[in-house]
Order: sequence, then structure tokens, then C-alpha cells
Amino acid sequence: MSFAAHLRLTGFWMEVGAWPANPDTLDKADKPQAADAAHLRGRSDAAALALEAIPDGVLVLDNRGRVAACNAKYLEYYPHLTKTLVAGEPVQSLFMADAGYRRDRGQSIDPVEWAERRMRAVLVTPESFLDKPTPDLVLQVNATHSEDGSVVVIARDVGTLHTIEAEPLQVDSFLQDTLESIDHGIARFDDSYRLTLWNEQYVSLTEMSPAMAVAGLPLMDVILHLASRGSFGEGDTTELAAQYFEDCTTNLPKVFERNGSEGRRMEVRATHGAKGGLMICVLDITDRVRQARALAESEERYALAAAGSNDGLWDWDLLKQSIYFSTRWKRMLGFNEAEIGDNPEELFSRIHPFDVQEVTTRLDAHLSNTRGHFECEYRVLHQDGTYRWMRIRGVAVRDESGEPLRIAGSQSDVTERRKAEEQMMHDALHDALTGLANRSLFQERIDQALLRLKRGVGTPFAVVYLDLDRFKVVNDSMGHGRGDELLIAVARRLEGMVNKSDTVARLGGDEFGVLLDSATEREAGETFINMLQEALREPFMIGEKPYVTTASVGLAMAVPQYDNAESMLRDADIAMYSAKASGKAGMSVFHPSMHADAVKVLDMERDLRQALTRKEMQLYYQPIVTLGDFSVSGMEALIRWEHPESGVLSPSDFVPLAEETGLIIPIGEWVLRTGTGQVSKWNEGRAPDQRLSLAVNFSVRQLSSLEVAEKVIDWLEEIEFDPSLLKVEITESVLMDSPQRTTHLLNKLKQSRIQISIDDFGTGYSSLSYLRTFPIDTLKVDKSFVNTITEDRDSLEIVRTIVSLARSLRISVIAEGIETDEQAALLRELGVEFGQGFLFARPLDAEAMEAWLLSRGC
Ligand code: C2E
Ligand code: MG
Ligand code: MG
Repeated sequence: MSFAAHLRLTGFWMEVGAWPANPDTLDKADKPQAADAAHLRGRSDAAALALEAIPDGVLVLDNRGRVAACNAKYLEYYPHLTKTLVAGEPVQSLFMADAGYRRDRGQSIDPVEWAERRMRAVLVTPESFLDKPTPDLVLQVNATHSEDGSVVVIARDVGTLHTIEAEPLQVDSFLQDTLESIDHGIARFDDSYRLTLWNEQYVSLTEMSPAMAVAGLPLMDVILHLASRGSFGEGDTTELAAQYFEDCTTNLPKVFERNGSEGRRMEVRATHGAKGGLMICVLDITDRVRQARALAESEERYALAAAGSNDGLWDWDLLKQSIYFSTRWKRMLGFNEAEIGDNPEELFSRIHPFDVQEVTTRLDAHLSNTRGHFECEYRVLHQDGTYRWMRIRGVAVRDESGEPLRIAGSQSDVTERRKAEEQMMHDALHDALTGLANRSLFQERIDQALLRLKRGVGTPFAVVYLDLDRFKVVNDSMGHGRGDELLIAVARRLEGMVNKSDTVARLGGDEFGVLLDSATEREAGETFINMLQEALREPFMIGEKPYVTTASVGLAMAVPQYDNAESMLRDADIAMYSAKASGKAGMSVFHPSMHADAVKVLDMERDLRQALTRKEMQLYYQPIVTLGDFSVSGMEALIRWEHPESGVLSPSDFVPLAEETGLIIPIGEWVLRTGTGQVSKWNEGRAPDQRLSLAVNFSVRQLSSLEVAEKVIDWLEEIEFDPSLLKVEITESVLMDSPQRTTHLLNKLKQSRIQISIDDFGTGYSSLSYLRTFPIDTLKVDKSFVNTITEDRDSLEIVRTIVSLARSLRISVIAEGIETDEQAALLRELGVEFGQGFLFARPLDAEAMEAWLLSRGC
């Protein structure tokens, strides 16, 4: 039975309880005074006597927690509280004073915490606890609540406790030192569950007051510092506490939050002695728990990041030789989780044979620590049989000696990026239209081949330079779309003719190049070119129509003397030019003498550009006469170039170059203006039917745009030149190159009454049917027929046919190149109306022509 219960039962409590319990009811004179037993006792002798009769220290608190009474024993036990033990003093003051006292005596104690703990023990959850006010005194303190809320605190001296009830344990200093060196808190209890042995760590971990750590302390008082009594339920607390530890074995530690410790977690293990007794081992695992939680969180974060990223993860245990592949990794290769195991071969067997070396070299470099990390791009076989480009990265984990234990990392699919890069690379080196190698790739290949040749490891080879004849006409007449179609078709045909080691390239516009790796002899190159021209003669289907093209081809053979691809390509180009000059579908093999020719052409081009401004061009006139009476009907304007160094050049020396460079446009304009201006002068004062006509030669280039026609018309208007006196001479080939566009243009001229003449008629290979389609006024029979007409029957027949054809179409005929009277007579006989030739006059400059006209009296 507890002592408080005893008081209650004896009725003694009633008298004590009759004291003014509430300090507020005390009058002013009753305000707290210095406490002494006598004073308190003075309130009721009977009660005071009873209190004094109790061998234990007694403290009575009213229901508001203020001091109501105490006995002399209590004051004896707590002498330092003498001043505080005053009626009406709040109990906190006692605890604070108690704490202050203990601290003064050098015991490490937090006064506030101490006071709170005591308050809780006494006022809130009345508990039995041990107190040690002085080193020699151990008190068992019990607090009992009455129904009205007042509290009786009984303090009993149990100083003899350990001698009577607990077996003192003989602890030698060695054992104690050992205990102190352990970072676990250890407390040992005897078979009646009283403290016999402990270390500092236990006291500090459980935050039990060092003053409390005395041998003989019951288990309950010791463990109360770990968990509150509530954890053990009602009943005999020592037994319950022991029970509590029954299942708390070494293997199954209990973890709980230490009483009032703001989340500090303790792991408690208990060992039950064979003959009873208990050993408690406490470890503060707060940090471990926090770390574990942080680790779990970081692992969770990592897992989330891995799941959220597009990368596949791998982790290779180098000791066990097993690889963990993440689900995403497997999916990247088109496999399900279960379809790929953990053997490194799952990876290595799928690497593209070309990339195995690269991957292993880089991996070894990292594992042997020569590279900080492992990183590489490689192709890996996908489940669908295709290869995917992957970027793999990893870092090794090593032991203390630097030996790799495992290597882990990520892998991302870079196929799209690689494809884009490859495309860009391809685009940079290939022609977008035909897909052939472009000039820079072609040159690179030639350079490589030249290098091999120079080093003596390669064989001679050939470079073919090819330019389509009259491609511009295709483009101009059929449109660029059709032109492109033709280029693509030619590209395909060329590709079909070469070996794998050869290179076909488009070098620009209508120019192609072929590197013939296998053509070690010039003859092989020539054979190839012949085959090529044969192949081109097969019509191409452009749109719906068949189209036949030819090409001028140059050939250069590789010699070690070539410095670079550029010079070799230039020579092949020069050879091609010389082939072109020799006529369509020509072929020419480069010879060093061509260099000089090429240089000449370049110089000529430069000079030609300046010829007009330097007034080096001269216009000559050649009369066209009526064969019937030799009267002059008109003039043909024929251009001459008075070259400062080369002397007078005839049109065949520079007109092709002028056409090629486009200079023919300004030159043609100059011819028209000069010619019409001159003829206008000669026509001044002439009767309309006596006026001279002017024939002007137009080249292909001049007929490629309507603009030229418009300019002609505008000019004639400007100088008031009768358009019907102007004859535009074009050759058959010009007509046939782009019939549609030319018809359009000719109609335009025709509408303005300008006359159209077909020059060099009979030399072309075109059908005569166009004579009906085009608005033609005159045919000029080529001088090659005229020259031979007297000796060659064929020529005669041809001229006869032309005349009858022209007559039926109401087209007039001019014979050019008449040199003899015989020819003139024969032609007149055949019905040719007009004639032109040295017989009548050579082409003369304006001055000479004027003199000629005067001499003829016209
Ligand atoms: P074409 O229009 O057929 O001119 C006639 C050519 O025959 C002229 O040569 C003329 O000198 C030559 N010829 C005239 N009568 C005789 C003869 O009896 N015997 C011989 N053997 N030849 C004769 P040319 O002046 O050298 O002109 C050559 C070609 O150059 C012209 O042929 C014409 O196609 C072209 N040409 C001349 N001037 C111009 C021009 O201003 N513009 C353009 N685009 N071409 C021009
Ligand atoms: Mg002419
Ligand atoms: Mg002619």
C-alpha cells in the first residue's frame, strides 16, 4: 500500500485537507512567509503533529500547485529549499531552486528541463522516482493526487537500498573502462530488475540525470527515460517493464522515440540472463535513420529521374561479370524486360562489328584509368534487325588500389542526330539535284588517287570531263524542270557505266566528271568515252518526248607530276573545250599544248569584253543583188573585230566565244544600231521601192528572250527605220533547238513586219516541215551548194528542190557565196531570185561600200 493511500485511510488526510487548500483564500497577512515547519504546523497542531509523526518527508500541494504544508523531515531532506518552502509558493519555484542547487553542486543539469521533468512527474503523471538531493541520500519519491486536485508528495530515504535490496556488483576499473569505451549505452539489472551496472553512454543517451544513476534503481525508473510509462500499461511496473523487454532480443531490437526528445530514435536490445536479470543496450540511431531516409529519398529521386529520362541505364559488376540493364535500356533495343539477361554478351554481341574495336578501346582506356570517363558512340543491333546509334557513358567504381569493381552509366539513342549529321555530311559533298558527288568530293577523290600514285602504291587513272552540248537550249526551250530531268537521267546513265571504285560527279551546270580508277592506259579512257557517247545517243525520255543529246568530252591521264586534283581537273576541262571547239559529240585527250590555247581563249575573252568600249568592232556590208538585173536590193551586215594585236578577226574567230560569254547580246545590239543607222543614211532620198534592205545575223543567245525582240522593235521605231527593210537571219539549228520559243519570238518580230531569213539553209538536219510552221520570208541557200553547183549534180538538185519548195511556200530564195558568173547564171536559171557573193562584192566597211554603191550608180 502506498503511503498516500495510508494517509487517506486513516482519516488523517481529512484534517490535513481541511487546511485552507487554496492560497487565494488566504488573507494578506497569510502571504508567503519564510517556510519553516513550525510556521506551517502553526495552522493546525493536530495535523502538524500528524505530519511530523510521519517518518518520511511530506510535502502537500494545493489543487493549484502551490505549497500548502510540509513536515520537518522534508526540510531535512531538502535543506536548500528552506527559503522556498513557503505556503502559497508555486511548486515550480521548488523545482527551480532544486535545479539551481544541483547545478551549484557541479552536477550537469539544465534547470528548466529538470523543473519540467519534475513537474510532469509530480503534477501531471504522478510517478515514483528516485531523487538524490545529496550524494549520500537516495530518496524514493511518490506523488499522490487527491480527488480535489491537491497532491501529497512523500519522500522516503532509501539510502540503504543498494545494500539491502541490490547485490552490489564488484566492478573493476578495467571492466568499467571497457564499458565506457563502447558507444552503446549499457545498463545491467539483477534478477529483481534493479540497476547494477551501467556506463556513461547509457546515462547520456537516455538523458537520465547523472544524479539518478545509482545502483539499485528499479528497472522502471531507468527505462522511464527511454519511454513513458504509458508504453507499458497499468500494473506492477517493474514486471511490465521486464515483460516489455522480453521480446526485445539482440536480433529484434526495438526502436522508439526517446521520451520528450524531439524525434531522437533509440534502438534498444535486451539480453536476458540465464539466471534472470537483464542487460539493456541502447544505441542512438537517429542519424542512421535520417541517413537511411535520405538515402531512400535520393534513391527514389534517382529512380524517378531514371524512369522519367529517355536514357537506358546499365550497371556492370566486373567481379561477377554480370550487367544490370534497365527496362528502358532493353526497350531501346526493342526487347521486353525478360528478353535480355545480365550477361555482358547481351551488349557486346549486339555491337556493330565496325564499332566493337572503338567501344572496347575506350572502355579499356577508362578501366585502366587513362581516361577519366567512358564515353563512346556506337551502333547496336535492334530487335528489328536494324542498327541504332547509341551514345554510351559510364564511370567506374574502384577499390582503394584503383582497381575497377564495377562500371555504371547511361545510354541514349542518338540515331536521329547521327542521321541528320550524316545527311548534312552527304549534302556537303553531293549534288542536291542528281545525288552525285559534287566538285569538292570529286577533287578529294582525285587528290587521294594522285597521292597513292605519287607514293607508288596506286596505278595511273583517268579523269573524264564531260559537257552536254546545247544544254542551254534544252533549259531555255523546255524549261528548267525538263532541264533538270535531263541532268538526272544523264547522271543515272553515267552511274550505270562505271565500276564501284570509280566516281561520277556533277561539276556544275551541265558538266560531269568521271574518275576512272581502272583506266590505267589512255586507250581505256578513250574506250570509255566512246561507250559513253554511244550511251548518250540512246534517246532520253524527257517528259513524254524522246530527247537525244551529245556531249563534248575531255580526258586527262594521271601522272605523278600533277600537284593536285585542281590542275588535273583543269586539264580535263581544257581537253573538253578543245573537243567542243572541234564540233558536237567531240572527244579530246589533254595535251600540254592545249594549255597555250586555253590561255589564248582567256586572253581573248578579256579583250572581247573591252572591244565595244574601245571601238574595235567594225561593221562590214556585203550587197545582195537581184540576179535578174544585178540591181542591189540590200546589204548583209557582217561584223569584224580589229584586234589591236591579232589584226582583223572574222566572226568565226570570236562569235562563238561571244555567244558563250553572253557578250553577243551587247555586240548584237551594236550591230543592229550601227547597221540600221548606216542603211538609213544610204536610203535617204531614195524612192520607197529603191530602198536598201538590211540583213542582220542573230545567234541563239539573242533569240532566247523576248526582251531582245522588243528592243529591236523599239529601236526601229526610235530611228524611224521601216521594219520591213530589216531581215533577221537565223540558222536552221537555232530554229530547231527551241521551236516553241522561237516561233513565239519570230511571230512577235513578224507582227512588226520584220522579215525572217533562214541562213545557211540545207546544212542543218532538220525537217523541212518547219518551213510551214515558222513565219519565214527568205531562204539563204548555203554557199557550200553554191560553190559546187556547177560541178556537183547533187548540189544542183538540192538547189533546184529548195527553189521549188520555196516557190510553193511563197518564200524567196537567196544564194550566197556566188563567186563566178557561171554560178550566177545557173542559179538564175534555176529560179533563184537573189544572190550574194564575192562575184558582186566582198564584205566592205561602210566607207568602201558607199564608194561601191556610187561606182555602181546606185
Ligand atoms: P553568214 O551569215 O552565212 O555570212 C556569209 C559569210 O559568207 C560571210 O562570212 C561572208 O564573208 C562569206 N561570203 C560571202 N560571199 C562569199 C563568197 O563568195 N565566197 C566565200 N567563200 N565566202 C563568202 P563572214 O563574214 O566571215 O561571217 C561568217 C559568219 O559569221 C556569218 O555567216 C554569220 O553567221 C556570222 N556573223 C557575221 N556577222 C555576224 C553578226 O553581226 N552577228 C552574228 N550573230 N553572227 C554574225
Ligand atoms: Mg548571214
Ligand atoms: Mg550563211
